[in-house]
Amino acid sequence: MSNFVWCHGPSCHKSHTQDRIRGVKGSKVLRTRKVAQNQWNSGERHNMYSYFCSNGCYNDFANKYVREVIAIAPRTEALETPIEVTKEQVQYGWRDGTYTNTRITTVDNNGG
Ligand SMILES: [Zn+2]
Repeated sequence: MSNFVWCHGPSCHKSHTQDRIRGVKGSKVLRTRKVAQNQWNSGERHNMYSYFCSNGCYNDFANKYVREVIAIAPRTEALETPIEVTKEQVQYGWRDGTYTNTRITTVDNNGG
């Protein structure tokens, strides 16, 4: 595994798993996992799995640094998506009846 990064999970090296054990008897350690850079997490597919060995390590990182992460793109007001809401009667079964279906479609205000 030549192309890798170390997992960025702050507690990755504290998880008790056999694959993290390194060293010889008397001086063994739990070591941070390597994250292989492959076709699924590099180049065009660069994503969270480029830096974290697991969802747990990603969550640990996100929870520890949530203030810094939010500071990158703070949300100070609500976003809105223009929609149209239509109700339609849908028949179910052979002659069981109908129910009202609510259909939400997004409206493209940019002229598409
Ligand atoms: Zn990890």
